[in-house]
Amino acid sequence: MYDFLIIGCGFAGSVLAERLAKEGKKILIVDKRNHIAGNAYDFYNKEGILIHKYGPHIFHTNSEDVFKYLSKFTEWRPYEHRVLGSVDGQLVPIPINLTTINKLYGKNLNSDEVVGFLASKAELRKPVLTSEDVVLNVVGKELYEKFFRGYTRKQWDLDPSELDASVTARVPTRTNADDRYFTDSLQAMPKNGYTEMFQKMLSHENIHVMLNTNYKDIVDIIPHRQLIYTGPIDGYFDYQFGKLPYRSIDFKFETLDQENYQETGTINYPTSNLYTRITEFKHLTGQKHHKTTIVYEYPTAEGDPYYPIPRKENQDVYNQYKRLADETPNVFFTGRLGTYKYYNMDQVVAQSLALFRKIIKEENAVQQ
Ligand code: FAD
Ligand code: UDP
Repeated sequence: MYDFLIIGCGFAGSVLAERLAKEGKKILIVDKRNHIAGNAYDFYNKEGILIHKYGPHIFHTNSEDVFKYLSKFTEWRPYEHRVLGSVDGQLVPIPINLTTINKLYGKNLNSDEVVGFLASKAELRKPVLTSEDVVLNVVGKELYEKFFRGYTRKQWDLDPSELDASVTARVPTRTNADDRYFTDSLQAMPKNGYTEMFQKMLSHENIHVMLNTNYKDIVDIIPHRQLIYTGPIDGYFDYQFGKLPYRSIDFKFETLDQENYQETGTINYPTSNLYTRITEFKHLTGQKHHKTTIVYEYPTAEGDPYYPIPRKENQDVYNQYKRLADETPNVFFTGRLGTYKYYNMDQVVAQSLALFRKIIKEENAVQQ
């Protein structure tokens, strides 16, 4: 008899497996894939280059708790991600910053002057509800078209006006020359990769890992007291309120017989090509190798569910599933797919740590 059957070996499931095992619980964690680490899975390809199977994963957080927790399982390599955009035949920093404006408009403005420049372009929106409003409100139509509209349509197959404000708000405009993609206080990559970090998390003697297993094939056979589910919530409930939409991505990898390909980790293509961005892994991992591997991201509707799509009608459907989930005894839902939230890795870790504390509190209350 297992205390917990956990579905999904990504961050959401693995954090709970590790924490609960340490409390003496017996855990079976299963994944339908042939590897652990969920979408953060990395491995050495046949040329010996460390790549991320499900697209570039860069760790960043403002949570010291999350960073401290993961540091039990990995050392870190300091890394601050930088992104350039191919716009008007030039490569310019994304998010839009002082340098972006000066390069695009052939100017030499300082930070104060760029504030005025953007204010003269901005189309004020009140209230700011959609992903279009967020951008127009700060930079106006011209920069919106150059940086956001095309990229967003490729990525989501929706116009920014059809998406919640939170989507493009992930990439805020800056009036200084900071060209880092993220401004979080803690930014680093696991020194030997994500998969090794997950191996350490799951190495506890109370944890049994079962791969290549759809939980539906074993859930009625293997005795367990409670279940933690980190797959798509609509699938758990057999799509009874309809399918929740997700975006997927086709990753096209290329290994090139040259040491470097591009000058920065990622280059975005907001207005050209069918792919959204190209990432060169060696920038992220710091690996030295005479060859290099890059990945193109082609967004698609079919395939593995990677991105929940933040918009009201989807949230309404999710809320129906959530109500059902809350009424389902001995089953907990967490993670990006389990709670239909566009979460980064650190947010998923924080969510699962919070769920762990809740579970233990409830168990202690029952025992008293
Ligand atoms: P997942 O990692 O998706 O794990 C869920 C697991 O459940 C999967 O392994 C799946 O196989 C398994 N599963 C599902 N159904 C079943 C079933 N029926 N039976 C058994 N197993 C099942 N975050 C960042 O912080 N920084 C980044 O740079 C970043 N880049 C990203 C780039 C891309 C292209 C994508 C798609 C995501 C990125 N993320 C990034 C987000 C990050 O991947 C997620 O926050 C995190 O991996 C979510 O962890 P999870 O455990 O919730 O889900
Ligand atoms: N975005 C954009 N142009 C860019 C970068 C981002 O329009 O050059 C928008 C787009 O809608 C994207 C969202 O901002 O989906 C979030 O970008 P982020 O880089 O955070 O996406 P992720 O890394 O999660 O795919």
